[in-house]
Formats: sequence, C-alpha cells, structure tokens
Amino acid sequence: MKTMTCRQLGGPCDLELSGETADEVIKAQDRHLREAARGGDETHAPAHEEMKGRWRHPVKAMGWYRDAKRAFADLS
Ligand SMILES: [Zn+2]
Repeated sequence: MKTMTCRQLGGPCDLELSGETADEVIKAQDRHLREAARGGDETHAPAHEEMKGRWRHPVKAMGWYRDAKRAFADLS
C-alpha cells in the first residue's frame, strides 16, 4: 500500500490517497475531485477540469498517467 497526496496528482490539497497500484490511487483522486466539485469546492475546480480533459483526450493524457505512475513507483 502506497500513499500519494491530492497535490502530487495535480490537485490543491494534501489529502492522502492510498492504494496497492498507481491505478487505484489515480481512481481515488478522480473520485476525490468529483466529490469536491460536486460539493462546490472552487479550489479543486481546475484539477477537476483537467481530469475531465484526460477522459476526453486519453492519448494526450498518456504523459500525465506515465508521470503519475512513475511518481507512484518511486515511492518507498
Ligand atoms: Zn484535494
């Protein structure tokens, strides 16, 4: 189990997200951004928009996913 923060994944806060794999952590971040946006949290709005952009343009988002996975792999 590894932990990354919302901030490490491009968000504005230090909420910790944990998972066994990078994909789990990325999913947890997506969920967190969706919930923050639904709750009217303005500070998470830009990161939420970026997340939606990653879904719409998965090929363009490859670099982001690669960086996130590398950051996860580098965690001890
Ligand atoms: Zn956050």
